[in-house]
Amino acid sequence: MTDVETESMTIPDKVVDAVRGARRVLVLSGAGMSAESGVPTFRDAQTGLWEEFDPSQLATAEAFRLDPPFVWAWYAWRMQLVRGVEPNDGHRALAELAGLREVTISTQNVDDLHERAGSAVAAHLHGSIFALRCSDCETPLRR
Ligand SMILES: [Zn+2]
Repeated sequence: MTDVETESMTIPDKVVDAVRGARRVLVLSGAGMSAESGVPTFRDAQTGLWEEFDPSQLATAEAFRLDPPFVWAWYAWRMQLVRGVEPNDGHRALAELAGLREVTISTQNVDDLHERAGSAVAAHLHGSIFALRCSDCETPLRR
């Protein structure tokens, strides 16, 4: 069996065979998945508008307590960025695979690109950027 080649990468034989032979597939996705759609990773964010700030310092409850408008602006920028991109072939392939196998997706990504491609996400390990909650009592914002 030969490796499967896509436009941007070659999927190793072992992975192709494992998925072909599997009844159930667990997918753990991270920043690289969304980066293909144009969502900058935290590292990438340091090269743009926010280069003088450390994103890991902005993504804390402490940062929010110190300067709520500043942290809100950063999250608003990220939300707008995510809304402006589309799921990529990888997201769509996993949604398609769910029609052939039992697929469970667990992602570190806070965006909704898996969902917009048609997948159900079992867990957003780092939360969802669109799931807002009160910083005092943690009540979710209902929309
Ligand atoms: Zn509250």
